[in-house]
Amino acid sequence: MKILVINCGSSSLKYQLMNPQTHEVYASGICERIGIDGLLTYQRPGQPKIKADHAMPNHSSAIDAVIEALTDTDTGVVASLTEITAVGHRVVHGGEKMTQSVIITDAVKKIIEDCNDLAPLHNPANLIGIDACEQLLPHAPQVAVFDTAFHQTMPKHAYLYGLPLKYYHDHKIRRYGFHGTSHRFVSERTAELLGRKPADLKTIVCHLGNGASITAIKHGKSIDTSMGLTPLEGLAMGTRSGDIDPAIIEFICAKEGLTVSEATTMLNKRSGIYGLSGEVSSDFRDMWDAADNGDADARTALEVYCYRVAKYIGSYVAAMNGVDAIAFTAGVGENDIPVREMICTYLGYLGIEIDADENNHKSRESVISTPESRVTVLVVPTNEELAIARETMELVA
Ligand code: ADP
Repeated sequence: MKILVINCGSSSLKYQLMNPQTHEVYASGICERIGIDGLLTYQRPGQPKIKADHAMPNHSSAIDAVIEALTDTDTGVVASLTEITAVGHRVVHGGEKMTQSVIITDAVKKIIEDCNDLAPLHNPANLIGIDACEQLLPHAPQVAVFDTAFHQTMPKHAYLYGLPLKYYHDHKIRRYGFHGTSHRFVSERTAELLGRKPADLKTIVCHLGNGASITAIKHGKSIDTSMGLTPLEGLAMGTRSGDIDPAIIEFICAKEGLTVSEATTMLNKRSGIYGLSGEVSSDFRDMWDAADNGDADARTALEVYCYRVAKYIGSYVAAMNGVDAIAFTAGVGENDIPVREMICTYLGYLGIEIDADENNHKSRESVISTPESRVTVLVVPTNEELAIARETMELVA
């Protein structure tokens, strides 16, 4: 079984061809600069990366380039396209209608299109990717795996904002949450590692990448998550502000002569640790280098980041009336040893004790709390492609 996983962004497209049963990855890569010129990166495990300029005026030509690479007589991994059993698409927004992954039909495409307003950079690109695959791989069923679906179990008191209710009814303004595929994958793997059933656990998953979100998962279901209507809410991130007083927007617009749209761009692209540090970087490795070389603002930015994560953990312990496991995942969560350490220093009141030696590893699936710790703390590398491929397989098998 070979599943092609497609993650279509506004100007890039990540792909991976894999077997979800054996976890074997046949090839993976990325198409970049779609609509500009086009650059294809293609890699087979254990082989050097191949990078090639390839004209990509649109997403359809990018998928064409991927298919050419996968079927190339020298470096390809499939002899015929019929070897590709199905295609799994990461779709960012499924709104309230999409509570799980689905086989794509015209009705599903209409629902994705109806959510364009909620994810204007992503959903239109996802639809173009789906159309292109339908044309180029007509034999293969297409599956949509939504970032928002896992969070559709949130209760109303968690997803409603303190706004006039008419905005929810008229415009569907509410918390949706993102990174759902990762939160689900990591929470299920956490249960497996603890030898417990998800239904018996209260888990907090900290997905700390460039974008970052935290989810409270009670008995296998997301009951609250830090991202909201858009991915801007919640934690301070690489370049996103996360939670702020909403009145700040009008204040900054007046003081700096910005439009609301310019202020929103600033909150998305020039805030977070990047903005707090005086634009040192959005990458945590650069931030630690700067902090260790005496840059006080870089250190403060990292402190703000960790404090915010710890505060969210505390609020989710309250939301679930307890916690059994806390899992760190994604680029920062898996690799940044001092960030994990700094966050966990706030958690002593939960009876959490971290084993410094166990924490002193990067990208390793492991329990980092001591055996005496009252809550188990883990590092669980996420694998969104595998999760998408598995869900695709389950629907088409
Ligand atoms: P996204 O999918 O949101 O782009 P990732 O989960 O890939 O993000 O995380 C990327 C981020 O992870 C980088 O911006 C960097 O800050 C951080 N990161 C990656 N490797 C390390 C490392 N070895 N140490 C600290 N941070 C790291």
